[in-house]
Amino acid sequence: MGDRKLLFTPGPLTTSRTVKEAMLEDVGSRDRLFIDTVKEIRQELLRIGHVTKEEGYEAVIIQGSGTFGVESVISSAIGRDDHLMVLVNGAYGERIVKMAKVHGIPVTPLLFGENERVDPVVVDRALSDAKDVTHVACIHCETTTGLINPIEEVGAVCKNQGRSFIVDAMSSFGGMHIHMGETRADFLLSSSNKCIEGVPGFAFAICRKEALGSCKGKARTLSLDLFGQWEGLENAGQFRFTPPTLSLMAFRQALRELEVEGGIPARESRYRNNKSILDKGMAELGFKAYLDPSIQGHIISSFLYPEDPAFDFEHFYDALNAVGFVIYPGKLSKASAFRIGNIGQIFPDDIRGLIRAIGEYVRKENIRMG
Ligand SMILES: *Cc1c(COP(=O)(O)O)cnc(C)c1O
Repeated sequence: MGDRKLLFTPGPLTTSRTVKEAMLEDVGSRDRLFIDTVKEIRQELLRIGHVTKEEGYEAVIIQGSGTFGVESVISSAIGRDDHLMVLVNGAYGERIVKMAKVHGIPVTPLLFGENERVDPVVVDRALSDAKDVTHVACIHCETTTGLINPIEEVGAVCKNQGRSFIVDAMSSFGGMHIHMGETRADFLLSSSNKCIEGVPGFAFAICRKEALGSCKGKARTLSLDLFGQWEGLENAGQFRFTPPTLSLMAFRQALRELEVEGGIPARESRYRNNKSILDKGMAELGFKAYLDPSIQGHIISSFLYPEDPAFDFEHFYDALNAVGFVIYPGKLSKASAFRIGNIGQIFPDDIRGLIRAIGEYVRKENIRMG
């Protein structure tokens, strides 16, 4: 296996050699090649979100990690007299609450258990009781556990109640079918280093143009001004501030490779296949899933620590790392769990290799499994 490490994480992910090679040539930010690349990426993002400019949608790219994109939307779309409700069932929902507080945005968290989906009926009732709420934010794949929230149903509730809907689809976009129109979202976010399989460097928002237009003059920061960013990209094809040039070149290559693979349906089925091999192998070793299988998505899976008190996650992590497999700790408030991602340039044989390494560890360390 050499020194090549495989990342079984929620991102950054394992990327192809050709995606990394797309970063070998320097490119100027005012270069025609670069400007065309940005244009191609923005068009392609709309296309894979199943919407068009003509239908009133826009794609905006924001430098930084995924959180910068979420913060750009939160701090630009919600006006001084507005009020945000965040549907929380994991760390990423909590992060949006924190973000709103930093910006002094009135925010109401609507809390669900970390092991349960956001319930649209509960959201409907909560919104009926909270007429001052103007915006609702929801995570699609809550990467904390890997559960999938029913964004289409929640979107329908928001639409009926006349509230603006913001979706963090960071870890799911590109890895499963998402139709921007069917979510009824005004803003839907993801980033370069998740299921499109690019390298880190930027986030992007697919926006309903009308909602984007209403952000004008509302931004609380200069660098994360979503409307300002869009204006720059639209008018001059330029970023206002230094763009992540090479990350964008890699992303263009990653989008082309997504097409070669067969588009999102093919990628989704590869990830689902990874997950079923992983689930079966882990169950055979005696590991228990944290979530009920009916709500566990195929993006990332969470497993409970074995009950054996001798199990030490740090030691387990280091042992797997030493043989080239990088997994991910859990951040659950109530349970001790770790996570294994099914996404990125990861194939069935890689999953089997990981299962083998985990099995060897369990035997060598004599971990009692259940
Ligand atoms: C990865 C991720 C983010 C963004 O995290 P960054 O570390 O800022 O890239 C936000 N929300 C979800 C659900 C994620 O999975």
